[in-house]
Amino acid sequence: MKNLLPLQELDLKIETCRLRELEIPKQKQKFDVQKKRLAVELDERDKAFKALQLEQKECEKDIEQKQAQILKYRNQLNAVKKNEEYQALLHEIDMIEKQIGVKEERILVVMDEIDAAKMRLAEDKKRIDLELKQIADHCAEIDAELTEAVKSRKELEAQREPLLTSADPALVSKYNRIRTAKKTGAAIVPMNGTTCSGCNMTVTAQAVNEILGGKVHACAHCGRLLYNPEFYLETSVG
Ligand SMILES: [Zn+2]
Repeated sequence: MKNLLPLQELDLKIETCRLRELEIPKQKQKFDVQKKRLAVELDERDKAFKALQLEQKECEKDIEQKQAQILKYRNQLNAVKKNEEYQALLHEIDMIEKQIGVKEERILVVMDEIDAAKMRLAEDKKRIDLELKQIADHCAEIDAELTEAVKSRKELEAQREPLLTSADPALVSKYNRIRTAKKTGAAIVPMNGTTCSGCNMTVTAQAVNEILGGKVHACAHCGRLLYNPEFYLETSVG
C-alpha cells in the first residue's frame, strides 16, 4: 500500500500531462482560422486583379472586331450606288467609331486600375507572407511545447516501473482496474472520518473498523480503495 500512493501520485501527474498534451495543439486552431482567412483575402485580391486584366483583353478584342466591321463597311462603300445607302454606311461607320472611342477610354481607366491593383496585390502578398511566417513560428513553438510535454510525461512514466514492482501485485491490479474504469482522478482515497473522500458516502461500520485497523477496503458506493490516512502520512513522490 505504501508504494501504491506514490504510484497514484505519479499517475495523476501523468494524467495531467496527457491532458496538457491534448490541450497544447488546440492553440493552433486559431492560427488555422487565421491562415484560411489570409488565403481567402489573397484569393479575392488576385481575382479582382485578374478580372481587370480580363476586362482589358475583352475591350481590346471588341475593338478589333469593330475595326474589322468598319473595314468591311468601307469596302462596301466602293460598291454601293445609291447615295442614301452610302450615307447609311457612313453613319454606321461613325457609330462604330464612337463605340471604339468609348472602349478605348475604358481601357485607359482599366489600365490605371490594373496598376493600382497590382501594387495592392504586391503589398498584400508581402503583408500576408509576413503574417504566415509569424503563424508558422507560433506553430513551431507550440510543436516544441508539445514535444517537451511528451518528453516530461515519458520521464514520469519511466518512474512507474520501480514503484510497480515494489507494490503488492493484488493491490496494483485492483488499482489498475479502478483507474481503467474511472478514466480520471484518484483510485485510492483516504477515509475521512467514516466517509469515503472519493464519493462522500458513509462507509459501513465494519469497513470503517477494518480500515482503521490498517486494511485497504473498496468503497461500496464508488469502488475506490479506501485507506486510513494516519497509516500513510509520509507518502509523497516528491
Ligand atoms: Zn466512495
